[in-house]
Amino acid sequence: MAAYQAPLDDIRFVLFDLLGSEALLQRLGRDGASREILDAVLEEGARFTGNVLAPLNRVGDQHGCTLDPDTGAVTTPPGFRDAYMQFVEGGWSGLASPAKYGGQELPHLVDVPFKEMIDAANLAWGNFPLLSHGAVSALLKHGEEWQRQAFLVPLVEGRWTGTMCLTEPQCGTDLGLIRTRAEPQAGGSHAITGTKIFITAGEHDFTENIVHLVLARLPGAPAGSKGISLFAVPKFRVDRAGNMGERNQVRCGALEHKMGIHGSATCVMNFDGAEGWLVGEPDKGLAAMFTMMNSARLAVGLQGLGLADRAYQNALRYSRERLQSRSLSGAQFPDKPADPIIVHPDVRRMLLTQKALVEGGRALAYHAGMLTDIVEHAGDAAERADAEALLGFMIPIAKGCLTEWGVECTYDAMQCFGGHGYIAEHGIEQLARDARITTLYEGTTGIQALDLAGRKLLQLRGEGLRVFGRMIAGFCAANADNEAVAEFIGPLRDQAAEWQALSEGIAKRAAANPEEIGAASYDYLMYSGYVALAYWWARSVAAAEDSVRDAGFKAAKRETARFYFARLLPRTQAHRAAIESGAAPLMGLPAEAFGN
Ligand SMILES: Cc1cc2nc3c(=O)[nH]c(=O)nc-3n(C[C@H](O)[C@H](O)[C@H](O)COP(=O)(O)OP(=O)(O)OC[C@H]3O[C@@H](n4cnc5c(N)ncnc54)[C@H](O)[C@@H]3O)c2cc1C
Repeated sequence: MAAYQAPLDDIRFVLFDLLGSEALLQRLGRDGASREILDAVLEEGARFTGNVLAPLNRVGDQHGCTLDPDTGAVTTPPGFRDAYMQFVEGGWSGLASPAKYGGQELPHLVDVPFKEMIDAANLAWGNFPLLSHGAVSALLKHGEEWQRQAFLVPLVEGRWTGTMCLTEPQCGTDLGLIRTRAEPQAGGSHAITGTKIFITAGEHDFTENIVHLVLARLPGAPAGSKGISLFAVPKFRVDRAGNMGERNQVRCGALEHKMGIHGSATCVMNFDGAEGWLVGEPDKGLAAMFTMMNSARLAVGLQGLGLADRAYQNALRYSRERLQSRSLSGAQFPDKPADPIIVHPDVRRMLLTQKALVEGGRALAYHAGMLTDIVEHAGDAAERADAEALLGFMIPIAKGCLTEWGVECTYDAMQCFGGHGYIAEHGIEQLARDARITTLYEGTTGIQALDLAGRKLLQLRGEGLRVFGRMIAGFCAANADNEAVAEFIGPLRDQAAEWQALSEGIAKRAAANPEEIGAASYDYLMYSGYVALAYWWARSVAAAEDSVRDAGFKAAKRETARFYFARLLPRTQAHRAAIESGAAPLMGLPAEAFGN
């Protein structure tokens, strides 16, 4: 089985040395989040995820969830429910939720590492509480007061869980195609009728109730995405006083059979005139959903990061133990029958790729968590506005790149294991299978790319890119005489200038031909992710040098940064060439001429 131990050392480095969280949180008035509290949460989180969740990862994969077709009840894998009880008793459910509704109101900067640990330990299990967070945010921002009182406390406390019901058979990316109907009823409720598919945690045995947040159409609603409303539909009815009543007309009709995350219940949910309550304004359901998009997308990015880290931990251990062949420069361990495979350049290529993407990706993801705290708590309006623009720009990069890199890293880890990675024994193939979904749900990589290039770059005129450009320029200027990072400053500055020019080029071409944006978007997303990571790697070297870390830690950061700049950052040039080739090579072939 693939082992997992939370990488507390690097997590602390990113939080405290690189991002300076302590000072930041004090400045934001989050005095309750002292270093002692943050450390305690990290330690306890590492214990819970390592001791309770990680051992259940394989169990979940082997057992999966089961459906009783007569009752529609879903049974989760052995141990999952008990782990959830421990999660709730430990107060983990409402870590970053408002104290007013039973949460602990800790900063996102603390919630983000905890999520990474959960995802690394057991992604399938992590999906059950994850979806509750989306429901909590939606109700918090858009619910009426009675809805908040009735639904939020049990959701925050973890006594109930939530779901997000968007997808239908004919409607995936394009939510304008939703057909589920909502008929107004006496008493202010609505009768919800329709079928939703692929619903994560749609049914399970963890809690006494489940609150489905459902997108549906009111009678006479405009066609397309402008006519969609959001409804809270509990499994057991809930009155305005918060009392739970009889079973609602919503039922799990089937469980999907999937490539990975077998322990996560992916449900077909049938709503048959179920009682639902409008959340927010009529026809404004999509806008309500989008307010929680940032946190949901960052959460899935963290899934990619967590799986990549677990895969790397195991590949590293294996590469130190597995003896095959001699080093090209002669035996490194002559007393052994062969050298460990970590001596071979190609194995080091794969290990360093994982290390560079995981540790750099961690900085990128935690920084997004930090921006969320700044957006919510900074006193200065200009600081909030900058953070908001940058967060919006970074979210598709975090979701898109961290999940693509999660797939790459789990496959690289499998390659380090050779054939032993492909068989089930070491648990690596499960990580690769589990990672695959992350580039698909919560908006495919293609959709993240369109969000970045189409909306954040063109519609919002690249404000987030400008803020990031200022950060890079500020770092380069401040470290102009810093010998520790001198070798990275020039390449980083050049790359940032190229990023700006490339962005302007896309904008120009898109003005003449709208297909240009879709043709450039994927490569632009990945290009942006690699430049962002170059910044985080250069900053990591500087932060490590300034810290009290030992020489080994500092050298590891420096050497990994060198690897990153030499071997991964050049990927940008292939992406740049693809972007600059424009739409013509993609759009020339008529659809019917693709062949059979
Ligand atoms: C395990 C699992 C769990 C899920 N959990 C949930 C859940 O809890 N709630 C929920 O509502 N949904 C859930 N989903 C659904 C998931 O969010 C969708 O599968 C995803 O949004 C993509 O939709 P689709 O599968 O219909 O693909 P499609 O929308 O049909 O897309 C197919 C391909 O076309 C591309 N494409 C589509 N439109 C465009 C465009 N305009 N430009 C460029 N490319 C485009 C896509 O990128 C993709 O590559 C889940 C899915 C799975 C598999």
